[in-house]
Amino acid sequence: LTTGALLAQMLVDPVNLILRWYDELQVAQVSLARLVGVRDIEPDAGDAGLSPEGRDVHADRVHFGYREGVDVLRKVSLEVAPGTRLALVGPSGAGKSTLGRLLAGIYAPRDGRITLGGAELSRMTAEHVRSHVALVNQEHHVFVGSLRDNLLLARTDAADAELWAALGAVDADGWARALDKGLDTEVGSGGLALTPAQAQQIALARLVLADPHTLVLDEATSLLDPRAARHLERSLARVLDGRTVVAIAHRLHTAHDADVIAVVEDGRISELGSHDQLVAAEGAYAALWRSWHG
Ligand code: ADP
Ligand code: MG
Repeated sequence: LTTGALLAQMLVDPVNLILRWYDELQVAQVSLARLVGVRDIEPDAGDAGLSPEGRDVHADRVHFGYREGVDVLRKVSLEVAPGTRLALVGPSGAGKSTLGRLLAGIYAPRDGRITLGGAELSRMTAEHVRSHVALVNQEHHVFVGSLRDNLLLARTDAADAELWAALGAVDADGWARALDKGLDTEVGSGGLALTPAQAQQIALARLVLADPHTLVLDEATSLLDPRAARHLERSLARVLDGRTVVAIAHRLHTAHDADVIAVVEDGRISELGSHDQLVAAEGAYAALWRSWHG
């Protein structure tokens, strides 16, 4: 079914599909199958026995570039303890989104390792990666296919009752229940036009279904009106609860509320610590915080 949704997209809208994935396709380490979650590598024995307390995220001297010879991340090391929140802050173009994609297993490091509970992400199957960690951003939310197809991307074996429960968990069951064809409603280009907020809810409902213990949150500048944004924020807060979160922060409170803040500058982590520690250190974070504050 996962490949079905992809094929449908290819048949209906090949140019858009290619354009959408073009950047990713340029990166040699990642296959299209990997991106849409089709099994493409052999299972890794190291994935077995990942206990809840062993689910720390670990980046060890990670190097990455989209093109040969152009380093975007250099020697990035960090650790996120299970159930805690790390905020990534820093100037635009510093590599925060790129690091987020690596931590979510979408790209593999050119050098160094990213491990989840000791198991190397780039050696796990796509399915395992998705069951552990997910990237939440404002891209690629809705695919051509039915609403059901769009939700089953997260977990192919989910029953309709589970799909409705997931929609309910993100406050999307109201509008979804009002659809004549319910879960059979065709969405995506050519189908029902969803609002950006509805598309986001579908992405969040997929998260509820996949139930990963680690989330990478890339807060894009919002496409939503303030009311829809507040509504989604509440749903998101519920989805984040109890999970390990790496949040790319564009807002004061996301950084302030994090357990640890990493400042990313020019592909490196230049400062690492709590809000209070970094404010006291009078460095880049302190300056950023002052600018956000006033
Ligand atoms: P940030 O999220 O901190 O703004 P990014 O990770 O988006 O930074 O970008 C870091 C660098 O990588 C920038 O120079 C950017 O132009 C480049 N970059 C980001 N995404 C891609 C991509 N898909 N293909 C090629 N270069 C990219
Ligand atoms: Mg970014």
